[in-house]
Amino acid sequence: MSLPASPIIIALDYPSMDAALCLADQLDPVRCRVKVGKELFTRAGPNVVEALHGRGFEVFLDLKFHDIPTTVAGAVQAAAEQGVWMVNVHASGGRRMMEAARERLETNNLTTHLIAVTVLTSMERSDMMDIGLAVEPFEQVDRLAALAQSCGLAGVVCSPQETSHLRQTCGEAFLKVTPGIRLASSQSDDQRRTFTPDEALSAGSTHLVIGRPITQAEDPMVALADIEKTLVTRSPDR
Ligand code: C5P
Repeated sequence: MSLPASPIIIALDYPSMDAALCLADQLDPVRCRVKVGKELFTRAGPNVVEALHGRGFEVFLDLKFHDIPTTVAGAVQAAAEQGVWMVNVHASGGRRMMEAARERLETNNLTTHLIAVTVLTSMERSDMMDIGLAVEPFEQVDRLAALAQSCGLAGVVCSPQETSHLRQTCGEAFLKVTPGIRLASSQSDDQRRTFTPDEALSAGSTHLVIGRPITQAEDPMVALADIEKTLVTRSPDR
């Protein structure tokens, strides 16, 4: 597949396939990828992925699988066989789960990028304590990112605050897919701390997940162009 050079992944956070495709039809697949998450996929299923592929988009299927190794490996294989560009699992599912998923892709010559979620950014120290983890969230992020890398995963979803540290510990080539992106001029919605696209790329993010600044814009292509203008020339083409 020929990949767009853009690091931008647009989150299609809509409750219906029609709404998601209405936005997709205003976008150019050469200038961005798209992300399909749990709500849209649960409502629309593989049809929405197929429809986006039919329009030329590369798709990040953000379903954050977490189950026993065989089940997750099967789900990751099913996603990859739909031709998605990227899929993810929860790193807290552990080594055997992540290795089973990665091995399943390799055995079947599937080139989908497999990445991990470390600690959800909604989790605070007290939430970690509630589930028996007496650690700071950032320590757990470090631990799980290192585990994901040692299991052969291609990268992690991480907040912009974590990116520069993970660049040091996991290296440049390890993918860092980062939500919480806002233009300096735009509202932060429910994101607690936001980074601009250029700040996130400078910190080491390889890909930027952007939702509402584009999906809620009066003209999504104008909003995308505004974001592109803020990016200095880089080569995140992978
Ligand atoms: O609209 P907004 O740009 O905030 O959307 C960000 C996207 O990234 C949403 O799909 C959201 O679910 C996802 N995400 C996030 N924070 C995380 C993980 C995923 O905002 N820690």
